[in-house]
Amino acid sequence: MTDQADIAAWRRGAAHADCAACFKSARAQIADVVRTKRPICLASGACCKFDEYGHRMYLSGLEAAFVVARIDAARAARAANPLRILEVDDAKSRGDCPYLRAGMCGEHEERPLGCRIFFCDKGADGLGADWQSELYEATHRDIIALHEQLGVPYRYLEWREALAMFART
Ligand code: SF4
Repeated sequence: MTDQADIAAWRRGAAHADCAACFKSARAQIADVVRTKRPICLASGACCKFDEYGHRMYLSGLEAAFVVARIDAARAARAANPLRILEVDDAKSRGDCPYLRAGMCGEHEERPLGCRIFFCDKGADGLGADWQSELYEATHRDIIALHEQLGVPYRYLEWREALAMFART
């Protein structure tokens, strides 16, 4: 399939009620675990400055379509434009996320699952050192199943690559 065909399929899937229900459930599951583990957010922006901290954030094509649609709707409600490809390119040049604003997430309400799970505060792992990985893998298994249930192609995309794909179409 071409990128265009995949994006069209993901957008159709993202509009399905089962998709919203799945992400609502995953967000609630993550919030519950984070409430229990109580990691500290140092507001360092470490999770969003990918090059500086040597990590990347990935998500499925369906999640990207769901999140981008929700962020675009939130931005429209604030009379802000959807993300432009130039902003994604600028973020890649800086090595961070295009939604990062003054060290904080500018789209906190609708951020991807990976952003909700990742904390740089490894010292808060009182109930098991791998809780972030385990939580990520568990929720991602549900997302893969959602791709299958909705019959949309599965691809695992780096966040800014996904944003660039959607900003171009
Ligand atoms: S969406 Fe928000 S939390 Fe996620 S990487 Fe971008 S700025 Fe950070």
